Amino acid sequence: MWAEGDEFLVRYESADGVIRGARPTRVVGERHGYLAVWLPAATRTAVPVLADGRGLRDCCLEERYTLPRSSRVVPWRGEGILMLFPRAAAHSVWLFWNADGFWGWYVNLERRHIWHDRGCDTRDHVLDIWCERPREWEWKDEHELEQAVAHGVVSVAGADQIRAEGERVARMIERWESPFCDAWETWRPDPAWPQPVLPDDWDT
Ligand code: MG
Repeated sequence: MWAEGDEFLVRYESADGVIRGARPTRVVGERHGYLAVWLPAATRTAVPVLADGRGLRDCCLEERYTLPRSSRVVPWRGEGILMLFPRAAAHSVWLFWNADGFWGWYVNLERRHIWHDRGCDTRDHVLDIWCERPREWEWKDEHELEQAVAHGVVSVAGADQIRAEGERVARMIERWESPFCDAWETWRPDPAWPQPVLPDDWDT
């Protein structure tokens, strides 16, 4: 369905059920059931913000989970990332590089993807995993998931499912299975690729 070089739009639904984030990317290819897409540095992306204009990292967690939201278009900061999407599972895996080269694998726990003709839609599940060396991993943002439950953004049962998916992916890391063992860290983008474009109607 997807060919190398195709534009692929990843969209994020906020807790209020509205699409408030979007990242335009370009399809790289598929290995062992994961579709890889490239988000280049400085790509214009849509990010959720508070309705008063503050960023979600510029407020306390209570405000993040209780105040109304809006969106803002900003360039992607830092190096480009490679995002790997499973066909049917509640996570994606992002490969990060820095000035020294490959940095690590970030597992973003998120709702199972809804696939459509422009890309896929999901919803961030707050809790994440960071893996910097093969077979080693650590939780990230456990406290934020607790706060999301405390404010009713995530149900207790939902948080249990999110943690269970994280545990499942952690075992994949410990066994060093796909997509971690698939050598994506040696992939590099075609410098001739034009930057993907955020469509005006990204939120509809
Ligand atoms: Mg996350």
